[in-house]
Amino acid sequence: MSVYQSRQEVPEKEKWDLSDLYKDLSLWEKDYRKIEEMVQELKEFDGKISNGKSLYQYLKKKEETSYIFNHVYAYAMLKLDEDTRDSHSQSLLEKAKSLSVKFSGANAFFLPYLLSLEEDTLRQFIAEEKGLEYFEEDLFDSFRYKAHILSKEQEELLSKLGETFSAPSSTFAMINNADIKFGEVTGENGEKVELTRGMYAKLIEDENRQKRREAYKAYYKPYLQLKNTIASTLSAAIKNNVTMAKLRGYPSALEKGLFGDNVPKEVYENLIAATKENIAPLHRYMGLRRQKLGVEELRQYDLNVPLISGVKRTITYDDAFAIMLDALAPLGTDYVNTLKQFKNSRYIDVRETPGKRSGAYNLGVYGVHPYILLNYQDDLDSLFTLTHECGHGMHSLLSSKYQPQITARYSIFVAEVASTVNEVLLIHYLLKEEKNPDFRYHLLNHFIDQFRGTYFTQIMFAEFEKITHERAEQGLPLNADVFSNIFESLFREYYGGELIHDEETKYGWARIPHFYRPFYVYKYATGYASAIQIATALLDGDGEMLKSYLEFLKSGSSDYPLELLKKTGVDLTTDEPIKRTLAKFNELVEQFSRSN
Ligand SMILES: [Zn+2]
Repeated sequence: MSVYQSRQEVPEKEKWDLSDLYKDLSLWEKDYRKIEEMVQELKEFDGKISNGKSLYQYLKKKEETSYIFNHVYAYAMLKLDEDTRDSHSQSLLEKAKSLSVKFSGANAFFLPYLLSLEEDTLRQFIAEEKGLEYFEEDLFDSFRYKAHILSKEQEELLSKLGETFSAPSSTFAMINNADIKFGEVTGENGEKVELTRGMYAKLIEDENRQKRREAYKAYYKPYLQLKNTIASTLSAAIKNNVTMAKLRGYPSALEKGLFGDNVPKEVYENLIAATKENIAPLHRYMGLRRQKLGVEELRQYDLNVPLISGVKRTITYDDAFAIMLDALAPLGTDYVNTLKQFKNSRYIDVRETPGKRSGAYNLGVYGVHPYILLNYQDDLDSLFTLTHECGHGMHSLLSSKYQPQITARYSIFVAEVASTVNEVLLIHYLLKEEKNPDFRYHLLNHFIDQFRGTYFTQIMFAEFEKITHERAEQGLPLNADVFSNIFESLFREYYGGELIHDEETKYGWARIPHFYRPFYVYKYATGYASAIQIATALLDGDGEMLKSYLEFLKSGSSDYPLELLKKTGVDLTTDEPIKRTLAKFNELVEQFSRSN
């Protein structure tokens, strides 16, 4: 594997081309100044919108500003991510961020103004100004919140308390990111070293069980020590959600959480219920894992270790790209040919270099093209990451190409569908092509574990959120013991009797940042289930599905997520996608039990 000491050493063709955004910095500066002026002009609309014409002029101006602003911001962010140590790039992003604050400040008047209008007045405005039709759906989507907006004085009061309401979340973030000290583990030469998150991710997959156990205990140590403090932040966060839902007239915190995506609570409840009804294959897999590992008792620190050793493969970037294109053939030649551009036209920043942002992401830039950041490592995981991010990238590209600006950006609810479909197609392709039985077994195991993490674990978390919020709504206490009891019994239900709990297991709730973003994690599971149904049909050669799935990729946020998915035949208001997903999982476990 080529290791680069600096960005200069990386071949041009493996670096993204930011000149598609701005040829040079003076053009960026020019746009920056332009937005400053446009923001001033936007401000002047405050108190002046009185008819269809002025409403249209304001919205149009806002959209134009947002178009340029996104370019300015994207450039600064991408530039900094090339080398986060670069002080010049840091100052660019600082500037872009302060611009962002000014931009949203200038528009702050609008939503309260809109929601103060009577529906008839808004309809009247739209009738008198033809151009407003373009904004109509968006306006009425915001209008849905009208019933949940309080009086002007109350809203002012609430906005003054905003920081107070978000304190539990920021306190937890401080504990979790800044103050936490993990326990010690044994280093290479037998010396004791303090565990870091990065080390934990590696050690929990170590073949040596003792090492895994040691890392697990060290990782959970601070969470156990801080259980009462963290229980207090989590309890406060939940109670805030419940209070806010009541104040704003939502029937429950859950319904408030689902309101933005326009998802009925039955979808959420159904997801949990249908999964639990069909949980047996997960229990079975736990038994198979225990047998394969040859341990008497399966523990939580046995869940991440690959079941086969010595299957590491080197996959170069060029090979990975070619494999991905072959694997995605079921998406049709147009899709595959468009995707080739990502490499040929340098949308992707491939290599790891000192100071570069870690991880991987896709950033769609409307009016330009998607940019993908990777830290490619010449291995199987990197191949999956490439394929995943290209799924997002193609979704961005197609939605930007076929949607007007206002609906080009897809919602988080549907985002993981495009990436997961690609991953599922990849794994099927690899399983089909692979001759080495050990490697096949490894792939199958990888698939099953990913399924477990993205689907079952997230549903378990989703149920935890539901139960704890309901308790708060009933005025019942929430504390470390309550959280632990709920978490432990959920763990037993989902994972079954094969998994033996350590004292640490039940404190899992204490380490999950997502619990401070209520009713969010279920979207991973619905996205995964949708992707499984779509990919399975594509692999069966279902031509209707191919057509409707490509339409879906082009649809951005032109409708609510459930409606967009319905057009592919995935109806999340029924049990069907969940049942199919679980049938697929059952099939994988069955296959797994037969191999090796
Ligand atoms: Zn993703």
